[in-house]
Amino acid sequence: MSIQTVNPNTNKTLKSFEEMTEKVIEAKVVKAQNAFTDWKESSYQQRADLLHKVATLMRNKKSALAKTITLEMGKVIAQAEGEIDLSANIFDYYADHGEAFLADKVLNPEYGSAIIRNSPIGVLLGVMPWNFPFYQMARFVAPNIMVGNTILLKHASIVPQCAAVIQELFEEAEAPEGLYTNLFITGKRASALVSDKRIKGISFTGSEEAGSSIAMEAGKHLKKVVLELGGSDVFIILEDADMDKTVEWAVFGRMNNNGQSCVASKRFIAVEAIADTFIQKFKDALSKMNVGDPMDPETDLGPMSSEEAAVHLADQVKRSVDEGAKVSLGGKRADRDGAFMEPTILTDLKPGIAAYHEELFGPVASFYVVKDEQAAIDLANDSDFGLSGSVYTQDIERGKRVADQIDTGMVFINHPTQTQPNFPFGGTKRSGFGRELSELGIQEFVNKKLIRVS
Ligand code: NAP
Repeated sequence: MSIQTVNPNTNKTLKSFEEMTEKVIEAKVVKAQNAFTDWKESSYQQRADLLHKVATLMRNKKSALAKTITLEMGKVIAQAEGEIDLSANIFDYYADHGEAFLADKVLNPEYGSAIIRNSPIGVLLGVMPWNFPFYQMARFVAPNIMVGNTILLKHASIVPQCAAVIQELFEEAEAPEGLYTNLFITGKRASALVSDKRIKGISFTGSEEAGSSIAMEAGKHLKKVVLELGGSDVFIILEDADMDKTVEWAVFGRMNNNGQSCVASKRFIAVEAIADTFIQKFKDALSKMNVGDPMDPETDLGPMSSEEAAVHLADQVKRSVDEGAKVSLGGKRADRDGAFMEPTILTDLKPGIAAYHEELFGPVASFYVVKDEQAAIDLANDSDFGLSGSVYTQDIERGKRVADQIDTGMVFINHPTQTQPNFPFGGTKRSGFGRELSELGIQEFVNKKLIRVS
């Protein structure tokens, strides 16, 4: 059985779920299609009321929901609670602003009149990862419910209790049957579902490999797809950075969510003048991290999401060392049960070494020293990924100049990448295409219909 809760703190299997049969999947698609027929006629007020209800339920159940997240994928409990707050805020944000974002756009033709009207397109399929089980769902689902679309959602197989409880939230909020439907299916089955004529668009967040498989199917069947894929974000430290503050952000940027965030700071690039100071302080801070049970409020760094993920990361470190990288800190699986990896810093990385090219999805930082600002920019852009990045300097104009030259979908100055409902989120290059959140995110799965009066 592939759909299971395995506590990564102990590697013990706690619960298994049956994959849905073809008959059950078909019934759910029919219900989603029927729900669309009614939901597309609902008022913005009805849609907003539902979103507010779900947000309120999330906040009321925050402690239990956060524990389910931590149990299944191992993020530390305070961060799981933060994820519930953020997800509820996203639901409220689209309830409050969705109607304005979707209002008719009035054009000024030479004669007569014309508007662009935003209409829903139908049933959407979401395929989501495990690293933020509620937030990833929220940023796709909330705007599309406001648009008038209906949702089928395949969650990652290692967070089935999160998937089930999200479905229950919609039921408790008295959402019409079929408006939001959890699918317990494999990735392969999700890819196959893309060809179903009733599914009009697909939002995928996850790895390049699975994203490519979904996008190939979507292309073959001429369907709109949004792809939010991996990243290898830079964290550039210039000579005039506020060092103590920058080190604090470096720890947070790399280790938040136990290092498993697409927008985690992964490549630390320091200019020569301050490189030694930075790495010494960074190393000291990482070695003081309290590694342990993510349910314990004293823990700073929990396990990785699964034994498989920890084995993969340890292998990436080993391959990199075999190819010439040096370990400045950590470098091994932590000496305890569960899917743990030591906080690690790799140095001496060059093209050809695994860690130079691959995404390190866990508590492993890559550290580079460069001559100057221009060399930092060149190294930052020498990556197939283009998700986000951050720059540290006390000269804000300089920070903006550097930001302008970094080829990613987002750049932050003096802060690691941050997500909030009103900031667009998404990447370029092999990090995907399309945007989520903000006014842009709600425009992805709408028919922008021109209505012209002559
Ligand atoms: P993943 O293995 O690609 O899984 C993501 C989802 O895709 C899961 O629901 C998975 O199902 C499904 N899936 C797997 N193979 C599939 C296939 N061939 N066809 C269709 N669906 C398939 O990714 P992950 O390891 O969970 O997540 C980590 C990756 O996601 C990292 O690269 C990270 O950077 C990226 N990510 C990106 C963003 C962003 O916004 N850009 C946000 C978060 C994460 P199963 O679980 O059943 O295999």
